Amino acid sequence: MRRGCISLGEIRCDACKRLVPTAERYLITDEEVDENGKKTVRYCMKCCQEKGFVGYRQEKDEKVLTFFPPDEKPDMAKPVEKTEETEKKEQIIP
Ligand SMILES: [Zn+2]
Repeated sequence: MRRGCISLGEIRCDACKRLVPTAERYLITDEEVDENGKKTVRYCMKCCQEKGFVGYRQEKDEKVLTFFPPDEKPDMAKPVEKTEETEKKEQIIP
């Protein structure tokens, strides 16, 4: 399960060990460690992008960075374009 969160300033990315600045988004994900259980791992946006955990969703006139799978708005009118091409873009929307 993945959850997008906003850093309060005491979050450290478990992948690159970078401190996630206050108000920056990060991702909490439960990763399977072994059959005994799961480990909660936090990723900064940069690592999310490198791992393909985030993508862009077209919304009105701008592209919105989004964690996926997007589990909200299942009844969205327009189809979401989720191609590998968009997943690999490295631009971060401020
Ligand atoms: Zn990181």
